[in-house]
Amino acid sequence: MGQKVSCRKNHEKNDLLSAVANGELEMVEAIVKIHPTVLEHATARASLSPLHVAASNGRIEMLCMLLEHNVNVDIVNQHRQTPLMLAVMHGKTGCMEKLIQAGANILMFDSLSRRTCLHYAAYYGHLGCLKAILSTAHSTRVADSWGFSRFVNIRDINGETPLHLAARQRQTECLHFLLDRGALVCATTGGYGYHGSTPLHMAAHGGSVECVRMLLASGADRLQLDPYGRIPFSVALKYKHKACAALLDPSYASMLVWPSPLKVISELNQETKALLEKALLEANMERENTLLMEADMPPSPLHPASKDDDIASESEDSDMELCCICFEQVCTIEVRPCGHQMCALCTLALCCHQKPDPATACAAEPVCPFCRGAILQLIVAKIKTSSDTDEAESSPTEPRKSRKSSFSEGSSSFKGLSAMGSLGRIAGCNSGKVGTEK
Ligand SMILES: [Zn+2]
Ligand SMILES: [Zn+2]
Repeated sequence: MGQKVSCRKNHEKNDLLSAVANGELEMVEAIVKIHPTVLEHATARASLSPLHVAASNGRIEMLCMLLEHNVNVDIVNQHRQTPLMLAVMHGKTGCMEKLIQAGANILMFDSLSRRTCLHYAAYYGHLGCLKAILSTAHSTRVADSWGFSRFVNIRDINGETPLHLAARQRQTECLHFLLDRGALVCATTGGYGYHGSTPLHMAAHGGSVECVRMLLASGADRLQLDPYGRIPFSVALKYKHKACAALLDPSYASMLVWPSPLKVISELNQETKALLEKALLEANMERENTLLMEADMPPSPLHPASKDDDIASESEDSDMELCCICFEQVCTIEVRPCGHQMCALCTLALCCHQKPDPATACAAEPVCPFCRGAILQLIVAKIKTSSDTDEAESSPTEPRKSRKSSFSEGSSSFKGLSAMGSLGRIAGCNSGKVGTEK
């Protein structure tokens, strides 16, 4: 066998690569032992090096063995792709983590479209890889030299950020994670002063309603023009994505937008954030169902049209405190420091109404609708135990069980809130809760 290897270089390399691909550790070690330079040779003319092969096939042990032989961790193939990029492309998270531990550079660009491993993760939708890359970007010199948010919004040769790619490829999980980590929803592919495509154009092209929904809820602009002068709505129509088009039609009222620039929102703890995000999703889905019905489309099976009844009956059963703003939903959010409580939807409405325009967003932080005090923090309200509820029930100062009040005639609990007026009106509506503050 040794002789065979020594006289036929090409054959030898193929043997090596197929042994690497198949994870035959002993075979590879034997080849390396007989020919200590075989790894260097195999990587010198690298259209594909052993490390690339191990990475893209998810051969972790093989990868570690090769790295122990001091193979260059950032070796590139003919497209200037690193082993890290290939591991990410194939979703081999374990290999990817080993490569990063071994010092692989996350800021390398391929020669095909000048894409980084972050672009690959977003394009192929491998959330585990995306998370690992971003946490590396947070903790390494990339953050110092480049800045984390610049890395998240890194552009390829076409000006596309990872968010653009996730939107076009319908990678909803990656899209959500990128938005959460500061990907710019308004990033365009155009240079300064030129029209460019936004992630919303890409989502309209890709046809994922969920991606469109998430981008809109993050404040994406429905009126931005792409290089052909089209708004996202026209793109959705062109590719016959009717449901996306219904959401993107600028003649309809826009969605509730997550008020990310507000300080109290950006400093939410995970639990509160999850609760509010869910409320946002539900509010927007109600609006969405109305739109889809008007556009003569069946509502998405993911979200039934009449959620309200469920929620109402749920709160009826479970004797929990009703929100004193809408009298429909259960109080789940507590305002700090004053301690007033309201439902997630009302909290969100309160914060979202402060932000009709991103440019003026920083101007006004919302105040508590009950006491007009500053909101320093929003937390999840403690759910009352049954004994607490009993006490509350017997208390004469708690006149709040008047559920299904005048607000209930609207089919949507959110409709009652859609005008700022309702909050003003409610602020005057004194309740048992407010009474305790006096
Ligand atoms: Zn409410
Ligand atoms: Zn208050």
